[in-house]
This record gives sequence, C-alpha cells and structure tokens, in this order.
Amino acid sequence: MITTDKAISLENRYGAHNYHPVPVVLEKGDGVHVWDPEGNRYFDFLSAYSAVNQGHCHPRIINALKEQADTLTLTSRAFYNSVLGEYEKYITEYFGFDKVLPMNTGAEAVETAIKICRKWAYEVKGIPENRAKIIVCSNNFHGRTITIISFSNDPDANQNFGPYTPGFEKVEYNNLSQLENALQDEDIAGFLVEPIQGEAGVMVPDDDYLKKASKLCEKYNALFICDEIQTGIARTGSLLAVCGDCTCKSHCERQPEHYIKPDILILGKALSGGVYPVSAVLADNEIMDVIKPGQHGSTFGGNPLASRVAIAALEVVRDEHLAQNARKLGEIFRSEMKNLQKECNLIHNVRGKGLLNAVEINDSPESSTAWNLCVQLKNNGLLAKPTHGNIIRFAPPLVMTEEQLTECIDIIKRTFLEFER
Ligand SMILES: *Cc1c(COP(=O)(O)O)cnc(C)c1O
Repeated sequence: MITTDKAISLENRYGAHNYHPVPVVLEKGDGVHVWDPEGNRYFDFLSAYSAVNQGHCHPRIINALKEQADTLTLTSRAFYNSVLGEYEKYITEYFGFDKVLPMNTGAEAVETAIKICRKWAYEVKGIPENRAKIIVCSNNFHGRTITIISFSNDPDANQNFGPYTPGFEKVEYNNLSQLENALQDEDIAGFLVEPIQGEAGVMVPDDDYLKKASKLCEKYNALFICDEIQTGIARTGSLLAVCGDCTCKSHCERQPEHYIKPDILILGKALSGGVYPVSAVLADNEIMDVIKPGQHGSTFGGNPLASRVAIAALEVVRDEHLAQNARKLGEIFRSEMKNLQKECNLIHNVRGKGLLNAVEINDSPESSTAWNLCVQLKNNGLLAKPTHGNIIRFAPPLVMTEEQLTECIDIIKRTFLEFER
C-alpha cells in the first residue's frame, strides 16, 4: 500500500508541476469525508471546486455509472445512442431550455458558448464578418484554453501564452454603467459572466446586478451568457445562482420575477456528480439552431455513460433537496464565521452564498498566512485551499448535515484561535 510521502514524491517526480497541492493524499471518499492512506479522515471543504456537490461516491450516481459501464460507454455522435435523447429531454426540462449541446469539461463548454454566440451574431444579429466582440468581466475565470486565457487578467493564467485570441472586451464586474457603455458598440455579440466569481475569491455582486445586466443585454440585442460551472446545480442555495433567492426544486415556478433566464447557460463540474466529466450548454432554438451538422462537436460529448451519470447527478440534487440544504447551512456557516471574526483578528471579511463561501484573511495576498492556516486545518481534519493568497474558500459537499457542519465550525474556530496565539 502506498504512503502519503511516497504518493507525493511520485507526483513531484513524474507529473508536471501545474498545481501546488495542500500536502495531503486522498485515497478514499464517502459523502462529505475523504481519507488519506494512513487512515486519517477529513471533511472536504473544497468538493473538487464544487464538482462533488452530491458528495463523494454517491451510491445512486456510482450505480448509474456501473450499470451503464457494463452496457455501452461510447458510440461517438456518428450514430445515435439509446441514452442521449433521454438525457437531453431530462436536462432541458430541468433547466427550462429548448436544447442542450453536450460536452465534457467546463472549458470546452465555455468555448462552445463563445462559438454559438459568435455564429448567432453573424447569422441572426447581422454583425459584419469577423467583427463580433464578447464582453467579459475583469478577474473572470472561465477555464484554461488559449481563447479563454486570452481574456483573463490573471498573469499566472495568461503570461507567455500569447498570441491571444482577439474579440473580447473587459468591463469591471458588478459595474452596470461600464457594461452599458460597452454594449453601445454595435459589434457586441454577448456578455459572458459568472453569477458569483468563484476563483476570484467568491465575489458576490449586488442583488440587482444580474437582473439589470440581463435587461441591458436585451436592450442592446446581445446574448446574456451565464457561466454557472461552479455556481450552478444547487451550490449557492438555489438551482442556479442566477435564480437569486429562489429554491424551486426544478425550473423556477416563480419566474419571471425571481428567475433571470440566461440566453446561454453553461454547466459543468457538479453535472458530473463528481465521477465522470460532463458539461453542457443550454439555449433556446433561435440561438442553438445556428449550429448545423459538422460545425461543432466532441468525440466524447453526449456519450451514454456521461448521459446516465448526469441524469443521476441531477436527480440526486432534486430528490435530496440540496439547494435548500445549501441555503440553510450557508446561513449558519456565515453567521458563525462572523461571530468568530469578532474574537479573531485573523479574519478580515466573510462572504458568500449558500455553501460557496470565503473567509478573507487579514494579511497581504503575498503572505503565507492563509496557506499555513489551511495546513493547520488539514492537521485538524478539514481540507480547504487558499485562492489569491489570502482568501480561503469553504465549499463542502451539499449533502452535509447540520450536525456535521457544527463539528466543522468547531474545527475552524479552534484552528483560527490556536493559530492566532
Ligand atoms: C472550473 C470552472 C471552469 C472550467 O472548468 P474545467 O472543467 O476545469 O475546464 C469554467 N468556469 C468556471 C466558472 C469554473 O469555475
């Protein structure tokens, strides 16, 4: 059996160093827990960047995977398969769109949305050839392909990866007047936005930002494109973050007042149930129909294994009321962290929505305080990782119970207070 030291030295020796992991090796997972090779148990407060909303190795999702794996796994889209249509009907009804385009990873789904938006701009909106531009936000994170990092302003993400893909305009996040200014350009095809900026450090915009942004897009005939890869599928206490405060089990029953329907919705991460990469782009016919046979695709996109896994992953979210649970536990978590902030000078700010939360540490982004705190949290049985140096994201699987959360809050409080001394 492999030890922690051995596993880490193998990764260091043979793997590209494109990550800087917290020094813990995970060997087994079940629900909100993971274990290292020595048998130590941890609460997972990262949930694979919100891909494991349903908890590790959820039996219903694993069974769907196993059954389909024994039957048929991959056909390519050169042929129809017996599961894809059922999945397409299920996911489009679940989120209230006419059609879905199935892909595998988040970045691929973002690329797909950009392609659909550009094609729509030329063929429906009538923008002259090669002039279409898409508005994005500063400090965005949409993935790692060349095109996507071309409109990132994180030097780690884009330095020395040029030349960059043109056709993107940046505006400040949560700034409606900048957005409206940018939208006046007749070559604007769409606005791509995260309803909450996850990687940027869980930046929650003003309550009316998304609604007003979507209205502005409508006014200037630009597509409102929501990247809900991290925020979607119950993470922030509603099925989609763009639903605001609505916890309808499925597509919103209270729209249009509480639900802003994006023109293009991008999903990934938890659509996989944490077991097999699945991503999706959803839109209504007038937009999706710009894509004709041969114009876009993926060998693995829409395969029967992915389709079965995604259906099960979405069923679990609905049947186990994960949006409602995320909302309830999120409120408890933030209020306890704000209490801790009163007695602990290490905490500068607490923010978030549902179970996507961040604690900003009272030190510079260059300091190692947040990292050292995460190492200490690990030693005390809880796994979290800093983002941008001084921000710790807390995002456990949504199947957590209130009792488990109380235990976790105790660990966090104890660790912070110990650390301060
Ligand atoms: C993780 C993430 C992506 C990229 O997904 P990958 O599956 O890693 O390619 C894109 N957008 C957002 C908002 C994300 O959080």
